Amino acid sequence: MGIKNFSKFLYDYSMSNDCLILNGNGKPLSYFPLSAVDWKTAVKLVFTRNVIIIKEHDTWEVRSPSQSFKVPSIVMLRKYYKFSKKVKFSRSNVFLRDMFTCQYCKNVFEKKDLTIDHIIPKSKGGETNWLNVTTCCKSCNLSKADKIIDPSPEVKTPSLRDLIKGQESLGAKKIETDWQEYIVA
Ligand SMILES: [Zn+2]
Repeated sequence: MGIKNFSKFLYDYSMSNDCLILNGNGKPLSYFPLSAVDWKTAVKLVFTRNVIIIKEHDTWEVRSPSQSFKVPSIVMLRKYYKFSKKVKFSRSNVFLRDMFTCQYCKNVFEKKDLTIDHIIPKSKGGETNWLNVTTCCKSCNLSKADKIIDPSPEVKTPSLRDLIKGQESLGAKKIETDWQEYIVA
């Protein structure tokens, strides 16, 4: 499988947490989202000899007519692929950058109560990118409407390190215990 396909399934298809994929250097291929795939993809990667198995799930076996095997919990690519360290722009990553805090009223909310606010409204030509969006609660979003208000602190393009820090201090995401040592940046 080529590098393009890897990024594609990481970002578009794979939101499953069955098996962690590590790059050839033993670090996750991606942190946001964490490079984890469903068990079928993991098994396919093993059979196509793209990865070696680092750990298996102790009690999870699957059977085909001719054999049975344990589902991998962590696999590592045989080769090291160089990926961009740039953080993907997404709603979730904007919330993470802003620590799930409405940048206008400064209260912390759950994801479902937050929205993305365009600092320069779309109706006034504002673009959808790191520097023109901010995390906003629904009531601030309503009262702000089409006004232009600068959020504080100023918005920025986060680095991978910023998001890892945010993730750590939120401590919210449940990670498989087996995976912990591989994920620490
Ligand atoms: Zn608010």
